[in-house]
Amino acid sequence: MPVNLPTELLRSLQGVNGFDEEAFVKVHQSGEQVTSIRVNPFKVSNAKSETSDINSFRVSRFTSHEKIPWTEYGYYLPSRPSFTFDPLFHAGCYYVQEASSMFLEQALKQTVDLKQPLKVLDLCAAPGGKSTHILSLISKESLLVSNEVIRSRANILVDNIVKWGRSNILVTNNDPRDFKRLQNYFDVIVVDAPCSGSGLFRRDPEAIDEWSEQNVALCCQRQQRILADVVPALKNGGVLIYSTCSYSRQEDEDIAGWLISDLKVKSQKLKVKSDWGVNETGESYRFWPDKVKGEGFFIACFRKKDGNDEETYLPKVKQEKFSNLEMEILIKNVNTDGISFLRNREILHAVPEKLIADIILLSSRLRIVDYGTKIGEIIKEKLIPDHALALSAIVSDRTPRIELDYEQAIQYLKKKELNLQAGKKGWNLVAYDGQPLGWINILSNRINNYYPKELRILKDFNT
Ligand code: SAM
Repeated sequence: MPVNLPTELLRSLQGVNGFDEEAFVKVHQSGEQVTSIRVNPFKVSNAKSETSDINSFRVSRFTSHEKIPWTEYGYYLPSRPSFTFDPLFHAGCYYVQEASSMFLEQALKQTVDLKQPLKVLDLCAAPGGKSTHILSLISKESLLVSNEVIRSRANILVDNIVKWGRSNILVTNNDPRDFKRLQNYFDVIVVDAPCSGSGLFRRDPEAIDEWSEQNVALCCQRQQRILADVVPALKNGGVLIYSTCSYSRQEDEDIAGWLISDLKVKSQKLKVKSDWGVNETGESYRFWPDKVKGEGFFIACFRKKDGNDEETYLPKVKQEKFSNLEMEILIKNVNTDGISFLRNREILHAVPEKLIADIILLSSRLRIVDYGTKIGEIIKEKLIPDHALALSAIVSDRTPRIELDYEQAIQYLKKKELNLQAGKKGWNLVAYDGQPLGWINILSNRINNYYPKELRILKDFNT
């Protein structure tokens, strides 16, 4: 499809490092689409390798594809399959993500010691690409606060976080200015800023109509406001990672320069291999689609050095005591090693023991949407398990599990009736290729499908 790039955009990019107008226009006209995914390291290693179902798109197949060079977990796919009809997509085995933006991994690996327990904030997090990636990189003693200011988008973020299956997570719905209440708290803050979006024109040509110079100027003001609000929440010595999917200098290098001059952070150089095709401008990094196999992206890293080492005071934890019976039920359903439980309006959540004080502190200062792993509710001495427990790494190994074939898995994900011969009465996990998809409850006369209604597949294959 011919793409008419805005002339004002092309004019504004003259002289920007790495901009080659002819190649840039050509790659937009080519109609070429790059599809890439990032696998979930906590799930993929469990997936079986052989396959007989042609409709299913097994993770084992991904890992034989071309690797994205700047990440351990990313792969290019030769074509775009129907992810909706792959049960492993719903099981959280991988995330469909644009390749350039996975460079975040280099930014993190080269600026922080990821083996240390870190407090990380992903400020503009929905739909969760960067957050699920960060969860794959940080240690289990680290905490990720994944924030999204727009409430409806925070729900999509939770869905994707739940699929990833980690418990060291807090999802919040706050304006950047609310983080001023957490001075010097985070070791790392990622600001993947809302921007004018020109970097995604090849993938989404309709976005071209929404682009204007005025919008670039507005985005630039908003980016400054967001950064000024959130930098106080970064520790002295902490790392700020700023990125956009805009080509405009005002939203990229100009913001980087303003961060250094006005917010007094120091830029951090990253090592980039020459064959990656990444364009280095000073200490910031540009991805041009005519030079990398990916879309337009900009990223820069900074360290805060303001000499203020005052740490955030953590509250003394007064945890609710659970009865012996409740603990028995929890131990039966959850791998409790290093895990503590919190109850919120009857719903039980599992969180890493070492993060309890932080989670309690953050709950008093931020608007929490979700935290840890939702376990469910104990009613009449039985656990009514939550979907999040099914997809988590802490669901008990002793939980009864029924392996579905491809057709059954799709039936389940459509929330249709399941016809199964085997299975013990009560709550069972259903799995595909060894990966849990959710819960069913086997009763004497029927099977109840507990796949969340709002997540169910609505369309038919080939529609
Ligand atoms: N990091 C996400 C990912 O990798 O999936 C993509 C983030 S997207 C580029 C920018 C996000 O910023 C959007 O989810 C948008 O709702 C949010 N946003 C919009 N206005 C904002 C504001 N004023 N402050 C903070 N975030 C904002």
